Amino acid sequence: MANCAIVGINWGDEGKGRMVDLLTEKYDVVVRYQGGGNAGHTVVNEFGKFALHLLPSGIFRPGVVNILGNGVALDLENLWSEMQTVIGQGVDITPDKLKISDRASLVLPWHRELDGLEEARLKDKKFGSTKQGIAPFYSDKFQKKTILAGELFYPEHLKEHAKDLLEWKNLTLTGVYGAEPTKFEDLWAWLQDYAEKFKPFICDTGKIMKNAVKSGKNILFEAQLGSLRDLDYGIHPYTTSSNAIAAYAPVGSGLPSAKVDEIVGVVKAYSTCVGEGPFVCEWFGEEADKLREAGGEYGAKTGRPRRVGPIDIVATGYGVECPGATAIALTKMDVMSYMKKIPICSHYELNGEIIDDFPFPVALNDCKPVIEYMDGWETDISGIRKWEALPENARKYVEYVEKQIGCFIKYVSVGPERDAYIER
Ligand code: GDP
Repeated sequence: MANCAIVGINWGDEGKGRMVDLLTEKYDVVVRYQGGGNAGHTVVNEFGKFALHLLPSGIFRPGVVNILGNGVALDLENLWSEMQTVIGQGVDITPDKLKISDRASLVLPWHRELDGLEEARLKDKKFGSTKQGIAPFYSDKFQKKTILAGELFYPEHLKEHAKDLLEWKNLTLTGVYGAEPTKFEDLWAWLQDYAEKFKPFICDTGKIMKNAVKSGKNILFEAQLGSLRDLDYGIHPYTTSSNAIAAYAPVGSGLPSAKVDEIVGVVKAYSTCVGEGPFVCEWFGEEADKLREAGGEYGAKTGRPRRVGPIDIVATGYGVECPGATAIALTKMDVMSYMKKIPICSHYELNGEIIDDFPFPVALNDCKPVIEYMDGWETDISGIRKWEALPENARKYVEYVEKQIGCFIKYVSVGPERDAYIER
């Protein structure tokens, strides 16, 4: 038996959803172990096109058990509407198929509100939050000021706990931000409503994971965002508020003793970045517009145009090291087919020196990209399914990237559809 984690190597949006949807075929359990409704995993399959924010991407496969682990930011409001959309497109979501950890903390109505209030206070110094309440949520979780999903089964206790939390949170809402206080009746009605909806899905998912391991089942861990957005290893403070790297998968999944045997890192064939923060290889103007259009690079959650640039070997090499990727899926190769010359950010220049190592986040502001070019393939590759059938220049590009980042590129994705890939 082998467990596998699928993680982003760059700034997110690498195409993880597409890879998880493809690889779930081999797995019995798919677990989300961190993050919340702030990112979108795009999946295109026989049911249609979906931007999954919270649901694990195994939800489309009959027989796969999908788990939202204790490490996720459990946004029941968004999850409910996402479930209705997916069900509306013909996908079955039953308590057999979706299990929510009783130890996952709830994103509460004030977390989204606080996210908006803080970004407004920061004005031009904002972090580029998706305003889904993720940062206020994780701050509260670490202060133990959240409600666990399992508490919904204990109404007497929940009422007291919710009252205490509300009293505390209203001090911040009114005192710090001058906002309206939350009323207990509203919070209680909200909690009862979502308890009603979600109780059938909430359980001890650690037990399910343990039994899965015992009976030799295969587990797939699905990360959200990428290494460069990891709370501890990313471009602080322009990171997310949780750990996206594979080392966190056992902790956030509910089975801290789980072994992750394989780690598939998803790398985009060029670079994109949503929101604020240093992005050394960034392109501007016409060149950037052309790539953005070719790749449809607009945020799955927010619709924001993504910042774009050539592949960044320095950042990607670091992004591969952080989770310890054992194989790479290189996505969106087809998007670059229009380019005569393929640009590559091979190194950074920092204070007159050429560097290969990804520097401390503050120093990124002074780094300049060193760009090299390879010949393009200038032909549509989206219908190709065999490595030997790829144009020579496309193969050379893959081999070059592989050598530079030091990890085997096992999959080359040439389209968003499930079967549009090459396995080497
Ligand atoms: P995720 O958050 O990492 O799952 O990535 P996103 O869903 O935000 O972004 C990936 C986008 O690229 C989605 O629209 C996918 O359908 C699309 N996509 C994924 N792989 C490929 C590919 O190889 N080629 C093309 N053209 N699109 C792809």
